[in-house]
Amino acid sequence: MTGDPKRRGRRLPRVSGPRGVHSVIRPLVRQLHAYVPGEQPKIQGLIKLNTNENPYPPSPKVLAAIKDAVDGRLRLYPNPTSQSLREKLAKYHRCEPENIIIGNGSDDLLALAVRAFVEPQAGRVAANTRTVQAGGHRFRDSASTVQYFTPSYSLYPVLAAIHGAATNAVSLSPEFLFPSAALLRKSRAWDFEAALTFITTPNAPTGRGFPTSDLDELCRLHQGLVLLDEAYVDFAEEHALSLSLRHRHVLVARTFSKAYSLCFQRIGYAVGHPDVIAALDKVRDSYNVNGLAQVGALATLDDLPYYRGNFELIKATRARLSEGLAELGFDVVPSATNFILVRPPRFAAPAWLEKLRAQKILVRWFAQPEVNKYLRITIGTDRQANALLAAAKAILKR
Ligand code: PMP
Repeated sequence: MTGDPKRRGRRLPRVSGPRGVHSVIRPLVRQLHAYVPGEQPKIQGLIKLNTNENPYPPSPKVLAAIKDAVDGRLRLYPNPTSQSLREKLAKYHRCEPENIIIGNGSDDLLALAVRAFVEPQAGRVAANTRTVQAGGHRFRDSASTVQYFTPSYSLYPVLAAIHGAATNAVSLSPEFLFPSAALLRKSRAWDFEAALTFITTPNAPTGRGFPTSDLDELCRLHQGLVLLDEAYVDFAEEHALSLSLRHRHVLVARTFSKAYSLCFQRIGYAVGHPDVIAALDKVRDSYNVNGLAQVGALATLDDLPYYRGNFELIKATRARLSEGLAELGFDVVPSATNFILVRPPRFAAPAWLEKLRAQKILVRWFAQPEVNKYLRITIGTDRQANALLAAAKAILKR
């Protein structure tokens, strides 16, 4: 901010200080593999189906509310606890404002959970450090363990690594179904005492919905915190919010990004026991949620029928696209989200990624072995689905 404009574009000034700048960076940070967000290309005319954004804009009332709020008040700090939004959400979820915390996107809340509930490993660079004592169920590092299924949201291991925590990543079945609590017990790979367990439900990037009764059964067996990450739940047939109000150690995280078309604003929330929420509240930034995001989220809750209409459109497109791709020979994983995971025929998934890009359609491919034969495709509009189906047909014809 204080740079001399005349110097911009010129050679950098000479710097002083230790030679190898590495020496000032913590070893943990030097070795860290940062989260890689989906590409945000600037190319015109590209059909962008790679980051699970909603193809429909926010409601006109939301846009008007945000525009109305852009005036001299921008000089003021926003409400530090997002009080009005917590009150409105509490009414909506039939709980108290003390059951709710707002985040700068739900990613913020996931990071806060790691900070509040997981002990960093003393003096160690975190790695996949799970250790099972021979023949027993005990894990040495439970208090420092962040646990999750694979595949699930790839941010979890990054958050654990940033914190210097251990991770326990447990593979789902090849069909990506939710494993029964009995199976997890038998496998001995699952740590029921892990400090923090993240469960993406419905799951990403698989799209599979997980039954609330199964989640309930698993939560009951846990000693540590369980965070149910419901980022995509509005496109599913059931949700598990009641578990966060029934169990002291369960949190549910939600976002306005996907279903409510507010990725740009960065706003999400978590619901849970007041003591657990108070712990998260202690470790957040004092003004973690910007004012325009609070305004946008409040106006969103005043116009829910608009969004429910969009959920139905997206679900209908999801069904049509799934059917169309299955007819072309794609294996389509049943989805309870606004994306589908598909295993394409004939060519390998990365080749499909490039062939579709050549046709100006951007989808997502993940290198992790459990899903590297698949593509993840965000559900866009019906027109975008038609374009994708036409492109796939053309690719297969060649
Ligand atoms: N959870 C999951 C499973 C996600 O895919 C995402 C989006 N990448 C988030 C949470 C975070 O969403 P946001 O920070 O935009 O609320």
